[in-house]
Amino acid sequence: MTEILAPCGSPEALTAALRAGCTAVYLGGESFSARQNAVNFTDGEIEKAVAECHRRGVKVYRTINTVLFDSQLEQCKAAVRHCAETGVDGIITQDLALTEIVKKCCPDLTIHASTQMTVHTADGMEMTERLGFSRAVLSRELPLDIIRELSSLCIETEVFVHGALCMSVSGQCYMSAVIGSRSANRGLCAQACRLPCKAVNDAGERFDLSLKDMSYLDSIKSLADAGVSSFKIEGRMKRPEYVASAVRSLSLALEGRPYDRQTLADVFSRSGFTDGYLRGKTGREMFGIRQKEDVKAAAKVFPAIHDIYRREEKRSGISFRFCLQSGKPVRLYAEDDQGNRAEVSGSIPETAQNKACCAETAEKQLSKLGDTIYSFNTAEYDIEDGLFISPSEINDLRRQVCRKLDGIRTESYTRRVKFTDCGLLDFPKIKTAEAAKIRIAVSRLEQLDGIDFSLVELCAVPLDIAVKAAESFPADKLAVSMPRFTFDEKLQKERLKAVKKAGISAMLATNLAHVRAAEELGFELHTDFGFNLTNSCALNAVKKLGAVDSVVSFELKAQQIAALKKPLPIGIFAYGRLPLMLTVNCPIAQAAGCRKCTGCVTDRTGRKFPVKCSRKEGYVEIMNSEKLYLADKTDRFRGIDFYMLYFSDESCGEVKRIISAYAGQYNKDKPDRSARDGNITAGLYFRGVM
Ligand SMILES: [Zn+2]
Repeated sequence: MTEILAPCGSPEALTAALRAGCTAVYLGGESFSARQNAVNFTDGEIEKAVAECHRRGVKVYRTINTVLFDSQLEQCKAAVRHCAETGVDGIITQDLALTEIVKKCCPDLTIHASTQMTVHTADGMEMTERLGFSRAVLSRELPLDIIRELSSLCIETEVFVHGALCMSVSGQCYMSAVIGSRSANRGLCAQACRLPCKAVNDAGERFDLSLKDMSYLDSIKSLADAGVSSFKIEGRMKRPEYVASAVRSLSLALEGRPYDRQTLADVFSRSGFTDGYLRGKTGREMFGIRQKEDVKAAAKVFPAIHDIYRREEKRSGISFRFCLQSGKPVRLYAEDDQGNRAEVSGSIPETAQNKACCAETAEKQLSKLGDTIYSFNTAEYDIEDGLFISPSEINDLRRQVCRKLDGIRTESYTRRVKFTDCGLLDFPKIKTAEAAKIRIAVSRLEQLDGIDFSLVELCAVPLDIAVKAAESFPADKLAVSMPRFTFDEKLQKERLKAVKKAGISAMLATNLAHVRAAEELGFELHTDFGFNLTNSCALNAVKKLGAVDSVVSFELKAQQIAALKKPLPIGIFAYGRLPLMLTVNCPIAQAAGCRKCTGCVTDRTGRKFPVKCSRKEGYVEIMNSEKLYLADKTDRFRGIDFYMLYFSDESCGEVKRIISAYAGQYNKDKPDRSARDGNITAGLYFRGVM
């Protein structure tokens, strides 16, 4: 049976989820949770939650799914240790440091690859397996046929089936970090996407980055048939009523029974639901915001929803044996459906004055299972004639034996994992290069015209123009820059083969899946910012995967970068428009048939974010309004082996000027204003993120 995985942002939501019939829950601790603004659970509450869940046979996953800084590694290790020793059933995580911690300290602990890892292809699945994950939470943008394909591979898949959709592919959204220093990858997304903004010009107020909530409940049978292991409900920030309603609806839908879709929409939606991604149909239909009517509808349905979780969900049958014999303490034995057994005893029975105890009177008390997780199966009676025991004592015995059985069930479902403390940073470290090299990434071939390749160590060109680039430029200086998302990995590999044949042997990988492609086709592996590498331990993990160097996350501050313990050379995003979002919906076209749209998204303050629509690859990038420019600040960085300059709309003249500015030909007295045209920013390197 596919798991019904409920979001629990608070102990109240946990109770609602359990009573509504979930079979697994996910929750965050006080730190490292991607929902830092949910109530979240203290260590003690996690222990309690594990007991409450396990007694019902429900699994508990803890999210440790933020990217980590070096300063947090020890604290994170302690959190992992707590999970291992408490018997948490698995950790949902995105930071590769976690895979290192688990490998070294507690290899038997189960880990799941968070949707933040952007796993969306067969190679991505294989890489997550290799890293030690037993399950991947797939990107939300996938259609049914890809979900089916991925679910037939090496490890389990977990699929979001209900709840909010982000505009950006998860793990690739930097909007909140870049515009407000609140990093979505660190659990502090400020949800700027839900505010008014325009990608299409008309008079009214628009919300062109806000998607409706998803619901796949009407397609749940086909998803179950597709081999998905876990159905995930989004919503750790939402109320217990929402959790109960979503869990109950999902469980009914899975059984093929009708559920109340209207109530489900009323309790929380954004102008109704969409299943656009599942059907592979993006566009206008998917956009929506939370409206006044949505909010009003919620209050009306709460009382009815409370009924869903007023009573305990029956998790198991229970069978009793009741023994009442003279001169011996009364005994009650109980057994659940899984064969767990418990036994309790009471006082020695008295001789009956008038009414003796019989099977009937005993059963009346034994069947009062009210607020337990058990339903009455059968009872056997071994009752000697003429003895008396008060109904209240039978009640008491029943309560005791149920509690004891609860405890035994809890233990039987709890698997504690041994944790051995190990150092995380005991790998060989490299020295920083004397002078940082310059690398560039271009968008168009013309940008390479006449550039001085002696100033450039490596030049990344997009996959679709790489073969052409190799015809006109020195192939040993070129690297193929991988698309950041794909719906057709097979085709992508064919294109890559042609690139290899054309003489390019370096790859700038933008997600984990590309590690596999590089290995298979013999490319030298360089990892790009999309890996979100924010600590030394994660750097070591990508080194072990075969990377020769890495661009670290631009969410790091200069001083954090300087303090990294480097197992391999590192570079930074040093010039260009920082990407804010990677999205499968084009905010400009909002319709099928979108082709290389040009334009921008304008927010409510008037800032314009250019949209780079590459529908050929199946995705769109929304870029920062300002260009990152550091040529006049390179002396404030330490420990950097190369600067990565990302060019988008620059002319080849500008490209040349910017390269020479970074190559040390920058004249402090006569700054090259042309290189700094318009508004510039130093990104997050000095202000950092929370
Ligand atoms: Zn478009």
